[in-house]
Amino acid sequence: MVSGVVLQLDILIQLKNRDNLKIITHAHVKKINFENKVAKEVEFWQDNDLKKVQVNKEIILSLGAIGSPQILQVSGIGNAEKLKKLGIDIVHNLNGVGENLHDHLMLRPVYKINGIKSLNKKINSLFGNLMIGLEYIFNRSGPMTMGASQLCMFAKSDSSLELPDLQWHVQPMSMDTLGATKNHEFHAFTPTVSNIKPTSRGHVSIVDKDSRIYAKIKQNYLSTDNDRIIAAKGLKLTRKIIMESKTFKKYTPEEYRPGVHINNDEELVTEASNYAQTIFHPVGTCKMGNDEMSVVDEKLKVRGLDNLRVIDASIMPKITSGNTNAPTIMIAEKGADMILKQ
Ligand SMILES: Cc1cc2nc3c(=O)[nH]c(=O)nc-3n(C[C@H](O)[C@H](O)[C@H](O)COP(=O)(O)OP(=O)(O)OC[C@H]3O[C@@H](n4cnc5c(N)ncnc54)[C@H](O)[C@@H]3O)c2cc1C
Repeated sequence: MVSGVVLQLDILIQLKNRDNLKIITHAHVKKINFENKVAKEVEFWQDNDLKKVQVNKEIILSLGAIGSPQILQVSGIGNAEKLKKLGIDIVHNLNGVGENLHDHLMLRPVYKINGIKSLNKKINSLFGNLMIGLEYIFNRSGPMTMGASQLCMFAKSDSSLELPDLQWHVQPMSMDTLGATKNHEFHAFTPTVSNIKPTSRGHVSIVDKDSRIYAKIKQNYLSTDNDRIIAAKGLKLTRKIIMESKTFKKYTPEEYRPGVHINNDEELVTEASNYAQTIFHPVGTCKMGNDEMSVVDEKLKVRGLDNLRVIDASIMPKITSGNTNAPTIMIAEKGADMILKQ
């Protein structure tokens, strides 16, 4: 792990010193400027100063599934009717920009346990925090070295499926709202379950032509029957594994939420959706393809324009059935190859 980080830093330092590379930090992209349909210039703020950089060859947008469609839209590329209402000059009508937003939604049931400790009480106490800190300082181990989840599992919601459509990320702790509330005062764990092939689609739409103003993100999670059915199956399978398997029985698990009294599929999903959260895998808003809602072609070039590519998670037409970071790196590698070979 440590050697991997050192290696990456080493590569970064080598890259930083290349003659043909200039890295500008503390910058926020304002927009791309075009001459006719050719991308010519990037405008950006750096410490409140507005600056411009001209391009000889291409502009590569890698601002992620929220940032890339936002910058395209403020630059006049998107649904012309909607952009005109915000006073934006249209460069190219491309209705797919910002559409097709999808993500993995994690449902977060919580199970109380006995006879084994979760991290809840340790994290809640000052002494526990001190011990966590000391363990890290002296042993380089313990909760401070943990990733976001310690256990991952895939399964099929229906045995007739060819491939899994459910993924669990399991955490040895629990709280009402991740990142917003304290851990529970009892020992419990959170086997989050996600439909990894969701069919619900949302969108990213700017609300202002100033790119410093957040775009509106509408996810529309669980808006299709299919997603609600898979969500119910995921919750029930989680319940079955934890409440009925020999392994878990010795810890006398208790379903804190949604609660075993909820059996009806629709009620189960409605209840669990109260504490569902993104697993931070937004994709699809500049999708690659050749239908009229596609934003980039198979070379990741923005359709109908010259000198502009998008290379990030936004180009995925459909989300990968697993975490999105490695696939995004793969997209970047493939994109780099295509640029070098052109
Ligand atoms: C909290 C969190 C945890 C995650 N955990 C995992 C995990 O465990 N495993 C996994 O596989 N994936 C994980 N992911 C998902 C993974 O990080 C993403 O799929 C991946 O980073 C997407 O890469 P990207 O290049 O498309 O976008 P990003 O990595 O989001 O990069 C886009 C960059 O553009 C910048 N940007 C946007 N707009 C502008 C602008 N106007 N001007 C200047 N800069 C701008 C952003 O600040 C950002 O640095 C996690 C994501 C989050 C947020």
